[in-house]
Amino acid sequence: MTEVRAKKFLGQHFLTDESIAQRIVESLSPDVKCALEIGPGMGVLTKYLMQHEGLDFHVVEIDRESVAYLHGHYPTLDVIEGDFLKYDLSVFSSPFAIIGNFPYNISSQILFKVLDNRDHVHEVVGMFQKEVAERVAAGPGSKTYGILSVLLAAFYRTEYLFTVHEHVFNPPPKVKSAVIRLTRNEVAELDCDEKLFVQTVKAGFNQRRKTLRNALRQLNIPLDGIPDTFLVKRAEQLSVDEFVTLTKMIQECR
Ligand code: SAH
Repeated sequence: MTEVRAKKFLGQHFLTDESIAQRIVESLSPDVKCALEIGPGMGVLTKYLMQHEGLDFHVVEIDRESVAYLHGHYPTLDVIEGDFLKYDLSVFSSPFAIIGNFPYNISSQILFKVLDNRDHVHEVVGMFQKEVAERVAAGPGSKTYGILSVLLAAFYRTEYLFTVHEHVFNPPPKVKSAVIRLTRNEVAELDCDEKLFVQTVKAGFNQRRKTLRNALRQLNIPLDGIPDTFLVKRAEQLSVDEFVTLTKMIQECR
């Protein structure tokens, strides 16, 4: 492992602790039939995932050296060489799970892509930087509750599983890491205009210290019909359901 020259710009921090690798893989629901690992690197998670009998399993890796390593060590593995962010996920049998010790430089983009593909991605298990994991799993009233927390909670049950120390990586990242699990909930579609919902959530949190009355001005919609009970609050106080209710009221103001 020491001879591996990790490429920082690809977010390469290789996990060196086998028990943590096993714990991540064991966090996948037993009924998952198809899974895609993002950024397998030198295969520390991959080798445990390959032991899952009957799992339709694929990996996507952008780094050519890692791809060559994987081909050499796991000749039967389906290695997709390329950028996960550009890959069309509809080719996988639906529903499927996404797993990985993710490249931290594209954490938010991975999660937004999951949201875009929410009808196919039924579970996500993986490692992010601790701060992102906390934001994902935060609920209303928390300082870390934000845009991603609300958008993900609208369609996934989010769980913070465990924290991982930086010394179990080569090279060690500057920050702590954490493993989370997202499980698709029962909501097929929101009971409001989804585009406006996203705009409302974003506007609310873009100026999170302001009351909604002020923060929502950037929507350029008169908010006359909306009760003060909503407008005096701040975005971080609203649950997903309250954001849906607010969006429906804004729809009526248009
Ligand atoms: N899973 C391995 C490696 C984690 S480091 C381990 O735990 O040791 C992150 C990995 O993601 C690296 O192998 C890096 O090359 C890969 N990667 C970075 N950006 C990527 C992208 N856009 N698509 C696919 N893989 C990517």
